[in-house]
Amino acid sequence: MSDSISMHLTRPNPKLAEYVSRTPAGMAYWAGTGPKNSTCRECTFFDHAKRYYAKRGMNGGSLKPARCTKYSALCSQAGGLIPHATPACKYFEAATAAPPITEK
Ligand code: SF4
Repeated sequence: MSDSISMHLTRPNPKLAEYVSRTPAGMAYWAGTGPKNSTCRECTFFDHAKRYYAKRGMNGGSLKPARCTKYSALCSQAGGLIPHATPACKYFEAATAAPPITEK
């Protein structure tokens, strides 16, 4: 949120504010707290089900956002859809066969 009032409020914990700003709703933990350079797409908990955008569409056949099953297990409810390129969180577990970024 960046309305005219909140822009002038003090951020008591800048690191936490950074985590909040880069973490989409539905992640099991803060984005970027997992292994360096790993993304949700490569995680075993990324429930992609091989869903891709149309090849001729605006997103050129790229992998659609998906839910995190770790979040569902921890919170007992489904979370939001996470873009595949989101930096991984601390619960990251490498998938045996991560889906390609674009449909073949
Ligand atoms: S890294 Fe894995 S466990 Fe963490 S939010 Fe992404 S899909 Fe979920």
